[in-house]
Amino acid sequence: MKTIISSLAIISLALLSCNHSNSNEKTAAKQESPINVIFMIGDGMGISQITTMFYYKESESQFNHFQEIGFINTSSATNKVTDSAAAGTAFATGQKTFNRGIGLDIDSLPLPSIVSILQQRGYQTGLVSISSVTHATPASFYAQVVDRDMEETIAQQLVSANIDFIAGGGLKFFNKRADGHNLLENLTASRYIIDTLDISPIENKSDKYAYIVADNGLPQKHKGRGDFLKDATKQALTKLSASENGFFLMVEGSYIDWAGHARDEEFLIAEMLDFEDAMAVAIEFTKQNPNTLLIVTGDHETGGVSVGKGNSKDEVKIYFNTDQHTADLVPVFAKGPGSDLFKGFYHNKDIYHKIIEALTE
Ligand SMILES: [Zn+2]
Repeated sequence: MKTIISSLAIISLALLSCNHSNSNEKTAAKQESPINVIFMIGDGMGISQITTMFYYKESESQFNHFQEIGFINTSSATNKVTDSAAAGTAFATGQKTFNRGIGLDIDSLPLPSIVSILQQRGYQTGLVSISSVTHATPASFYAQVVDRDMEETIAQQLVSANIDFIAGGGLKFFNKRADGHNLLENLTASRYIIDTLDISPIENKSDKYAYIVADNGLPQKHKGRGDFLKDATKQALTKLSASENGFFLMVEGSYIDWAGHARDEEFLIAEMLDFEDAMAVAIEFTKQNPNTLLIVTGDHETGGVSVGKGNSKDEVKIYFNTDQHTADLVPVFAKGPGSDLFKGFYHNKDIYHKIIEALTE
């Protein structure tokens, strides 16, 4: 009898320890799932734009912080060479669509964006851009219109999108509209704190914030924009991280694309350095908050940029092969829980599915 009891004791101990290790594994697996997502898009940022930061930046490039790297095909449903509307829609909805279309499928039917899906799960959401907040890339995360130029309609849709933190330009689409409405009043009625001048510090983390600080886009970095992108990213993280339910933040370095269109080397380097400054803020945040998945990519390449021979053997020079977007594959950098999902070759639309998978695991 004694033997039987001690055997039982051993078995139940074994079962207990087995259960114990199972629950430990579950806890460990749970910790592997990210709670927060920071998604940074360098508009027009291909591999050569990133390469410039390894030759033209005096300090270490922020891209050195990443181990998990993949490549995306950026083509849209209709064009090998995408525009930012179709590319943004692929990121935000998981479906490729037609060029110029925002938040719609190929048949012009509305698609739910990752912002609205995560809002339903209790996430805080934020969008930061230096172009108009109604411009193609940020608009893809909340709007549904057949053409990206319908920015007054897009502004109307932003008012009802319930996004917790908004920063960028585009004031005229809110307060100088053809219909005479002043949407800033609607934002106030929806309990937004509005700042039309600068990124002032967050005072009450339970308020929603809309910083819409320029009539159209903000100035170019080398023409006096200052630290808007970095400061807005910092304030967004302060505001959004106050919630324990997790958050989704999209940050766009919008003018890397414009520099490619302009075939302007100085413009390009200034915008890349500015994007790096915002990345530094995000990377520092992931160090303090390791349950954050950070993804950095471009929506397409612009300018057919290459870094080639300079005037001497110690110099390189930036060459532009076109003033248009290209079909180049674009790298994806990921860091934090779920980042291994982002390795390999895939399509731009898969980023959406990988984020959802990382959050659901
Ligand atoms: Zn462009």
